[in-house]
Amino acid sequence: MERRLGVMGGTFDPIHHGHLLTAEEAAVQFGLDEVVFVPTGQPWMKEERDVSSPEHRYLMTVIATASNPRFSVSRLEVDREGPTYTVDTLRELKDQHGGNVDLFFVTGADAVLEIFQWKDPDEILELAHFIAATRPGYDLARFEAEEPTRHSNVSVMNIPALAISSTDIRERVREGRPIRYLVPEGVESYIEKAGLYR
Ligand code: ATP
Ligand code: MG
Repeated sequence: MERRLGVMGGTFDPIHHGHLLTAEEAAVQFGLDEVVFVPTGQPWMKEERDVSSPEHRYLMTVIATASNPRFSVSRLEVDREGPTYTVDTLRELKDQHGGNVDLFFVTGADAVLEIFQWKDPDEILELAHFIAATRPGYDLARFEAEEPTRHSNVSVMNIPALAISSTDIRERVREGRPIRYLVPEGVESYIEKAGLYR
């Protein structure tokens, strides 16, 4: 049988319990053997703000996922020169497994609606099955009527809603408010030690 590999892409600036829960639920609900987290290199859609260095985001992702035997982290996008495109990442992950792999790209409902703005959307939807997790603030009825989600290679996944976002966490750190229980302890320590988001 083909290996069922989940791919959780994100900026992870920082990674939080919303990401971890989404990945775990995808693994359970879709019978995935592994979920690989892929922190972005230079995020070309988020150029309006300063994104922490890929190395910081990569390390926080490693710390957050270390205790889960089914989770791993890939440096594919972090090490790539120039802008990173999901289509290239999916191709490379497929190649790494000699083609013997079924890819499941896990995203929040907000991100899946952006697929058609990505590079080569048709090829992306052929390379991987898409799992779109419900996320607080997204109207599911409207969401399901959108074009990408009607595609046969996209499934909507219901998860317990966690209204956590990296944006809110960065704001909390800047304002000196707590982030405990929003991110894993090790990530909280890392943010403090590295002086991120101040
Ligand atoms: P930012 O606020 O900086 O955009 P974020 O919290 O949205 O950060 P990303 O790194 O942009 O985090 O998200 C990576 C992926 O995780 C996306 O597919 C996003 O939809 C999904 N995601 C993020 N937070 C949640 C959450 N609380 N529940 C479910 N999915 C989430
Ligand atoms: Mg986001």
